[in-house]
Amino acid sequence: MERDSLFGKTLSELASVASSAGLPRFGAGQLAAWLYRKGATDVASMTDLPKAARGFLEENFSLGASDPLSCVASRDGTRKYLFEPGVEAVMIPDFGREGSRSTLCLSSQMGCRMGCAFCATGRMGLVRNLSSGEILNQFARLPEHNELTNVVYMGMGEPLDNLDAVLASLDILTSPWGYSWSPSRVTLSTAGVAPALERFLVESRVHLAVSLHSPFPDERASIMPIERAYPIEDIVRIIRRHSFEPQRRVSFEYIVLAGFNDSPRHVAGLAKLLNGLSCRINLIRFHRIPDSPFFSPPLAAVERFRDALSAKGLRTTIRASRGEDIEAACGLLSTNSLPLHSYET
Ligand code: SF4
Repeated sequence: MERDSLFGKTLSELASVASSAGLPRFGAGQLAAWLYRKGATDVASMTDLPKAARGFLEENFSLGASDPLSCVASRDGTRKYLFEPGVEAVMIPDFGREGSRSTLCLSSQMGCRMGCAFCATGRMGLVRNLSSGEILNQFARLPEHNELTNVVYMGMGEPLDNLDAVLASLDILTSPWGYSWSPSRVTLSTAGVAPALERFLVESRVHLAVSLHSPFPDERASIMPIERAYPIEDIVRIIRRHSFEPQRRVSFEYIVLAGFNDSPRHVAGLAKLLNGLSCRINLIRFHRIPDSPFFSPPLAAVERFRDALSAKGLRTTIRASRGEDIEAACGLLSTNSLPLHSYET
């Protein structure tokens, strides 16, 4: 039988592990320190735990953290890693005008069941949810771990469709007993799962990004089936109801599809939908996937669309495209038919 993993457990879960191992109350904190702050690679190295407790832990648990299986590098410095159990995480270095940043885009599910028409992950369907340990492992065992400045839950999967594991991973990432990261360095991106969004907004303080892609219900539903279950108008209403701390950001992701969602009518629709909401719109160039009917407009057209939105008082930016040559850009992650040897370490 497969042993339960220690890595990925929250402090309260570690408290029950500590108690079953016969450790005192502060044993949970000791375990958390070894797992998250000291990066222990095995139980034997947890030398301040009594020998009998280490023996119990070795017998009943696995550590549950592992290095990436392989990596492929883009010409622009972006690196895509493949982790067990077959998920991709992308490390994006950025040496921009505002200083250097290294952003990790990590996955929360193997595949995804949301079926967005522009996304390669959606074509895989949902294979399974990742555990909190499998989510955090992409962060902890990234070779560039110590250089990371930002984490985005924007890789494979819909994070709010795996909410318990995602919230546990955020707890570990941002708690003082865990990795102690500021929530302002972390963003969760969602297609908009209304009930889970309510809970996420209450139980977490990280930034929120919502995939929007059209302000019109029928049109949005034609590329994002989730619109039929949770309309974007309801999602925006939920966001309006929650008062945000000044340092917590809300942004809307908008993949610009030539001739589909980039007209003056869309500018007016977006202005109406987001009227008065403190937020930002991120325009994203479409990365074509096989058999897709969509195309990306030229950059000049995207810039005109940005300027028209800005003129309506909507703070709008164009996100730089990264890692397209290694299929690491937005919407391209998929391990559906991936031969592992196509990666190079
Ligand atoms: S865009 Fe996100 S929510 Fe939609 S199918 Fe892809 S991974 Fe799933």
